[in-house]
Amino acid sequence: MYLIFRCDCGRVLYSKEGVATRKCTCGKTIKVKQRRIFDKVETSEDASLAVQKMQDEIYGNTGFIRANKIK
Ligand SMILES: [Zn+2]
Repeated sequence: MYLIFRCDCGRVLYSKEGVATRKCTCGKTIKVKQRRIFDKVETSEDASLAVQKMQDEIYGNTGFIRANKIK
């Protein structure tokens, strides 16, 4: 299971369930349990897609997506 959540900087992140912290590309370390979980998905592929979908909704579908950096 993978959890989808957001950093304070606005980026959408995901991490495997049970992982305590996740470092955002902005440099902030997120404590996963303290974040509001937007979604839960089964696979890393689904997580990646969910992140892209949320980024699309947040930024508009402008090609701002850098999914390869969101891992
Ligand atoms: Zn961030």
